[in-house]
Amino acid sequence: MPCTLVRLAGCPLRCRYCDAEHALSPRAGKPWALDALVAEVQRRKRPLVLVTGGEPLAQRACIPLLQALVALQGPIVQLETSGAYPIAEVPEAVRIVLDIKTPDSGEAARNRWENLAHIKPKDEIKFVLCSRRDFDWMLATIAKHRLDALSAPILVSPAWGELSPGELAEWVLRARAPVRLQLQMHKILWPEGEEDRA
Ligand code: SF4
Repeated sequence: MPCTLVRLAGCPLRCRYCDAEHALSPRAGKPWALDALVAEVQRRKRPLVLVTGGEPLAQRACIPLLQALVALQGPIVQLETSGAYPIAEVPEAVRIVLDIKTPDSGEAARNRWENLAHIKPKDEIKFVLCSRRDFDWMLATIAKHRLDALSAPILVSPAWGELSPGELAEWVLRARAPVRLQLQMHKILWPEGEEDRA
């Protein structure tokens, strides 16, 4: 789906596969006034706006931004978060993609399991996997937290350059894992890197 991507700067995590290193510093990018940012999203007229990072919830203005985007009553508003911050204040209309950090990401200690209580059926739970160890941990985590009973789809994605998509697909099929395989489409379409295609 064509998407306006709003990448907020700053993240306290350091996942080993991070592909947003240019956004990890809170001083990265350029400052935007809230009204100007919302107007720019509106100008692009795309059916989806994704607020990501860095870790978007690390910025206090993220919640007012989400509220303003929802108030447009136009694009679907999606938030991608590491789950290292509380999601309780995220507006109901926002579709949350909650990224659960695995052991081989190096940041599993950051998972705030209490966030699972706020996941809605239209949200998504996501695992980015680096290894077979991560895959087995994911299966155990789905069982432990009854994630397949939450109604939100569970997405699984291979960390770019760490795990082959074909191998992961085999594991998913053999284990009958209740997950959907997802690839990083922008890396396949535009391997030269992120670009602004306004
Ligand atoms: S949470 Fe996201 S932005 Fe932050 S280090 Fe991990 S992958 Fe990178």
